[in-house]
Amino acid sequence: MTTGIAEIERAMERLSLDQLQRLVTSAQTALDKREADALVEGRVQGAPACPHCLNEKAMRWGATRGGLQRWRCGSCAKTFTKATGTALAHVRKRSEMAIVAQDMVSAKPSACRALAGRLGVDKMTVWRWRLRMLEAVRGYGHDALAGLVEADETFFRESRKGSREWARHADDPQQYPEPPRPRWRDYERHGLKLPRGLSRWQIPVLVLRDRHGATAAERLQALRYRYFETALDGSLAGDAVLCSDGAAVYRRYGRARSRRVEQVNTKAGIRVRDGVFHIQNANAFHARFQDFMRPFRGPATKNIALYTGWMVYRDARQARGPAEDPRNPLMARLLAAG
Ligand SMILES: [Zn+2]
Repeated sequence: MTTGIAEIERAMERLSLDQLQRLVTSAQTALDKREADALVEGRVQGAPACPHCLNEKAMRWGATRGGLQRWRCGSCAKTFTKATGTALAHVRKRSEMAIVAQDMVSAKPSACRALAGRLGVDKMTVWRWRLRMLEAVRGYGHDALAGLVEADETFFRESRKGSREWARHADDPQQYPEPPRPRWRDYERHGLKLPRGLSRWQIPVLVLRDRHGATAAERLQALRYRYFETALDGSLAGDAVLCSDGAAVYRRYGRARSRRVEQVNTKAGIRVRDGVFHIQNANAFHARFQDFMRPFRGPATKNIALYTGWMVYRDARQARGPAEDPRNPLMARLLAAG
């Protein structure tokens, strides 16, 4: 006996405001779940090959379980779904994961804690899902940068979030020495003076962007020449021309690698030289990057590289336009990554 949609709609007229709101929420959840399953089911057209023995004669096997159709191999008799053998094989909360994935490519991604609360899943689960998806897009759009390549650094405040170093020090000062500085929140709370040489607590990220919009962003261990050198070597195409502010590291790199470097004296207020030499695209990326990072309130330094990859992916995706993308691109990539 099926309930007609018209019947449900008529019944809705008798619902209170609260009940309607509940209905909207549960309908959205059901929709998210169906869409997540549809993504898995749509991965392969028709009967899937057996992931165990690669035989191609699989038959539908019983009713759907957990929303996915089960199949049975005609050769080895094992059963499986289209998620078997993919990165989603053991994910029970596919719909929640799909929502997390969709949030990651939205205009304003949420912090893990907020998402976890909304979805009723553990904060660490959200974090692990994020790591897996970021893993699947590592290096996305990272072709060698060519032509005129703008280079500039941006900085994120160092964070020791989650390190528990102060808590450990308080418990056992013998074993755990005093951390190198107070927690950032204590500066405000206890009116401490900010440390001198603040640059020591700033994590530099080198951003390289060519005029086609291809971007590389890499965390530097420190503002030392050798870290610049490694990052630049890894990203520049053979004939790329480097464009930077007046910093000496770039000149030195140009000499060491016999590479053409065009510098703009931004300190003197010069923004564009000879009509083409400027670092305004890199700077615009910085602004978007800082904006993107704000909701995360200073992610742990050890995770900066992950956020950098995430930012580059989002930016490149936006630039390419969503037309060529599936509805949930990160889930789709995760599925494809296997
Ligand atoms: Zn088989």
